[in-house]
Amino acid sequence: EILTNKIAAGEVVERPSSVLKELVENSLDAKSTRIVVDVKKGGRSLIQVADNGEGMDKDDALLCLERYATSKIYTDDDLFSISTLGFRGEALPSIGSVSRLTLITRKKDNPAGTKVVMQGGKIVNVSEIGAPPGTMISVADLFYNVPARRKFLKTVATEMGHIADTMSAMALGWPETAFELVHNDRKLFSWPAAQDPQDRIADVLGKDVAPGLIRFSKKEPEVSIEGCLAMPEFSRTTKRGLYIFVNGRLVKDKLVTHALMEGYKGRLMKGKYPVAVVFLRVPPDQVDVNVHPAKAEVRFVNGAMVHQALSSTVKESLDALDQ
Ligand code: ADP
Ligand code: MG
Repeated sequence: EILTNKIAAGEVVERPSSVLKELVENSLDAKSTRIVVDVKKGGRSLIQVADNGEGMDKDDALLCLERYATSKIYTDDDLFSISTLGFRGEALPSIGSVSRLTLITRKKDNPAGTKVVMQGGKIVNVSEIGAPPGTMISVADLFYNVPARRKFLKTVATEMGHIADTMSAMALGWPETAFELVHNDRKLFSWPAAQDPQDRIADVLGKDVAPGLIRFSKKEPEVSIEGCLAMPEFSRTTKRGLYIFVNGRLVKDKLVTHALMEGYKGRLMKGKYPVAVVFLRVPPDQVDVNVHPAKAEVRFVNGAMVHQALSSTVKESLDALDQ
């Protein structure tokens, strides 16, 4: 069991930022409105995520560290009706098998919270504890028991860069949630909840990008598209300024990227990619998110329709600028 978890960890947990992504996704699934992340030494010694979400009772707190115990998939059809970011119930058990994990959680209506400590996949302590409503998970000494993996962690600066990128992307996707990032006791950023996604974009990508944002939205029966495109002069030589969310999930998807580029055709210099934040919503039965262990790729039932809808919407909104 512990070995299986360690193997799964190899796929889900690549580096500190992948731990962070899984923890923040769980906080978002728990309907948190505020997520505070505390990191030490680029995530090597600590990655801690505290939220004000639904929290768990004692039984759930123990169960969530067991592989697949919390899977929401019972039948093949369930794979096509996923409305949460998580669904396999393997992230926490995997992370817990390669670190020292502490979980403190309380449901609002419970008088006391629960603390569970796991070390290298074994629960070593369970106790009652006073705690605010919500959940705090801290992951210390990542890969302490997998020396080969630990050796491959990069410098603090590099790992911290990945962590900041991950936080930025998630913050762009969830503007109504407040995010804070602290590294070695220094506050790197604190982004308040934003009613308007444009305010969050200004906070995350910089105030200079914000004024020229081109907003677009389109509602079709099978797909709704919303987004903000930065003016072409903010284009970059990498795809790192492309933030694409499918049903709230950050993806790196070829089809969606291609459609976006198609919409820009003739407007970008060769080798340049736009800065854009795009939200696609399709009915859960129209997209398979279980394609990739880190859930970064998706497969649409009707990819051609999604492609056409996105590329034409982007093109129309850019064309409108020329009028
Ligand atoms: P998944 O997200 O695929 O369900 P995880 O291993 O990431 O699997 O999480 C397991 C379960 O633990 C979740 O389904 C959820 O019920 C619970 N959980 C994890 N993190 C939180 C949190 N921050 N707040 C409330 N519940 C949580
Ligand atoms: Mg999860």
